[in-house]
Amino acid sequence: MRTVILGVDGLTFRILHPLIERGDLPNFKKVSQEGCEAILESKYPPLTPPAWVSLSTGLKPARHGVYDFWTYEEQGLPGAERIPRAQTKRKGGKAIWNILSEYGKQVLVINVPVTYPPEPVNGIMVSGYMTPSSNLDFTYPARFKEELYRVVPDYEIDLDLHSFWRKADAMQLLIDATLRMTERRIKLTMHLLKEKPWDFCYVAFVGPDRLQHSLWEEIRSLDTRATEYFRLLDQGLGLILEQLGPDDTLFIVSDHGFQGVTHVFNINEYLYSQGLLTPSSPEHISRAHRAADVKQVVRKLGLLPIARRLKRSLKHKGALKVPHSDFFHPMEGIDWKQTLAYVPSLSGYPGSYVDIFFKHEVSSERISEIYHDLEQQVDPKSGKKLIAGLYTNEVFGEGPYAPKEPHLLLLPNDGITFRMDLGGKVFWDETSKIRGTHHKDGVFYAYGGGIKRGFKAPHAEIYDLVPTVLYSMGLSSPHTFDGRLLDEIFVSRSQPGQTAGQIDEAEGGLAQRKLRKLKKLREVGAE
Ligand SMILES: [Zn+2]
Repeated sequence: MRTVILGVDGLTFRILHPLIERGDLPNFKKVSQEGCEAILESKYPPLTPPAWVSLSTGLKPARHGVYDFWTYEEQGLPGAERIPRAQTKRKGGKAIWNILSEYGKQVLVINVPVTYPPEPVNGIMVSGYMTPSSNLDFTYPARFKEELYRVVPDYEIDLDLHSFWRKADAMQLLIDATLRMTERRIKLTMHLLKEKPWDFCYVAFVGPDRLQHSLWEEIRSLDTRATEYFRLLDQGLGLILEQLGPDDTLFIVSDHGFQGVTHVFNINEYLYSQGLLTPSSPEHISRAHRAADVKQVVRKLGLLPIARRLKRSLKHKGALKVPHSDFFHPMEGIDWKQTLAYVPSLSGYPGSYVDIFFKHEVSSERISEIYHDLEQQVDPKSGKKLIAGLYTNEVFGEGPYAPKEPHLLLLPNDGITFRMDLGGKVFWDETSKIRGTHHKDGVFYAYGGGIKRGFKAPHAEIYDLVPTVLYSMGLSSPHTFDGRLLDEIFVSRSQPGQTAGQIDEAEGGLAQRKLRKLKKLREVGAE
């Protein structure tokens, strides 16, 4: 009863389904036909750090404390800046590798994001995305790092986007680098699966996110070169499947889905227009307004595409300094004394969401006014409503890390994202090309022992993974989760549409025995 979780950052059925249909992904096809498939929703918010931590803990942010790449210190004196700190690990809650280690299970945890420093586990752990540097001890046990580099000499925790940021053939370099990183991760995973004892393996691949942000159009049109990554991932999946016995179970999950966007809503400009946000200096905003006026003139003359091309070519030549950050630094230039509401994080641009922070002195009536006004916002060009989902603090759950100030979390309609810049004067804008951003609808597959075959399950949520995996491993947990057990994906003799013959044919009496055991565990009240 071993389990593998294959986590894939930004994986979406919008790309997987057409590639499976075209015959590119035989192993994904097998898992889909012989296992369960569902949309895995990731909404609060659909962003890498909180979503991975929720996948790994079964908890909402109020209990694990991760909302963004950043955590904002509480404001000391009134008007003081809220200092952001990079978030490399969760603040609270147990992860599935802690729970399984307590059960004495052997675990392998490979590159799951937001796990630095690595935690002592009953097995091996390699920290993932957000690890500050590979010069640090990023493995547990620390001595495993030496073995890792011996087996895979050029191992990478993530891409070094700096290395090709300004190069003319950046896209080609991005594809090549992603393929190389993925080949190495598959090699390490296979080394561990073959050479180490294990009951549970949780490995994260990040390629779809890194590629789809820049190459959404090319990947969506199934361009051969741009989609090569997915065929490599499918090969990796095939190698993992070879290691599984009939009683073992595989889960494939993404931290969020993906989409193409063309329209942008300037949320801080909106808050500024409402008198809620004040920039730190008047020059800041008037300078930005002047720049916006030039942009308007250029747009009217139809020169914007040319201006953009020029800017891009200057970037490529290195003539224009592109401020680059790994984690989308929070915005600066806020007058912290005057400002009553703000979106400090830029993560909502690639993430397609915004999290508005309100100061305590803003009345609930005023917040309610803003809520209803945002609900009414419509893109003047497309006539499309801005908001698909508008949420208040309770979606973050209850726990020690619940936000202290009121928040509004906005999820836009498809094709729309948010910008946090000030000074553009207009609320609505368009992107120069179709950009890839996150979407709430991610991917869930379950396959193997005890799992229904060819079943399209109802939507699940990222919090549901941990309780479901524990159940599939026949373990109850003394902990409570924010997610639920997805019991609809498991075979049961009373389940309509699944005959006992199919179960016997697939797994023989072993499956029946396992089912009896699982049922018993459920009866005693597994979480
Ligand atoms: Zn992303």
